[in-house]
Amino acid sequence: MTVCPKCNDLGYLYAGEDKKTPPSVSPCTCQMKKDLIANADRGWKGISHASSLKQSPLLEKVDKNMWITTSYAEMRAHMRYVAFRMNPLWRFYVYTDVDLMTAWLGSTALKRQNIFDSDVAMNGASVSLTMHSLVDLVTPPELLVIHLGVKASRNSATPEVLLEAIQIRVAQGKPVWVFDQPNQPFNYTHIAYSEHAESILQEFDREILKSKVRPSTMFGNSAKSSSSTPTSPAISSSAAPSGGLSSIRPSEETVESQQPVERPAGPPRPSTGQDDGPIFKVRPPKKKSKPTFR
Ligand SMILES: [Zn+2]
Repeated sequence: MTVCPKCNDLGYLYAGEDKKTPPSVSPCTCQMKKDLIANADRGWKGISHASSLKQSPLLEKVDKNMWITTSYAEMRAHMRYVAFRMNPLWRFYVYTDVDLMTAWLGSTALKRQNIFDSDVAMNGASVSLTMHSLVDLVTPPELLVIHLGVKASRNSATPEVLLEAIQIRVAQGKPVWVFDQPNQPFNYTHIAYSEHAESILQEFDREILKSKVRPSTMFGNSAKSSSSTPTSPAISSSAAPSGGLSSIRPSEETVESQQPVERPAGPPRPSTGQDDGPIFKVRPPKKKSKPTFR
């Protein structure tokens, strides 16, 4: 762990001082980097270690409702890309279908109904203490990402709980991304499927992301997953014509162009375990300040 040469690990720099004004400080880039990493990992545990991407169409869609189909590893890489380019105070959360069920069962438990869900039990969730209702779970995030495909055991309420979560977000005018995987597409075979939910999702922006990053499972990198999971070479990005986004945000484009485009297989650069990338370019905070939920 090297000490920051700019601020000596204080996290801030003296911006100026004279006899008339009190000393002022500005945050050091090392602190901004720490804040961004912390925020990324808060929203989805460990994604600061996900693969680095050069671009993601999802960055332009943080205010939109999305139906995203891609692999788990790819989605984590895209979320990392997005989170590192948003403000460190950007409150996004990725919840699984099991999380939704846990919240829903919590409210049911409070009503003293005797319902058991094996996925929730496996999750080790304290049903009645952690979350009191589905609304409490899905309302606060600025962006809610629903990660389908984690729930394995059948519970007849799963489709309705997913539908309700989506409808709560839509009714509140807050963006929701629903994320399924090529090997578990959200269709009539899916454990959380309902025609109603599908009809809503079909109104959302659709993104099918090609898998570029190394295959992995939720439980770590696994060669097995690439052989047991049929790869989908035919899948291509349906939305967002290639290059169409580059003109939208010239500042981002400038930042990207300042980065090394390709990493040549030359001498390895000192690795910090992170790809620093254009991490320091963050969006300014939104004008309207929202209450922070933790
Ligand atoms: Zn520093």
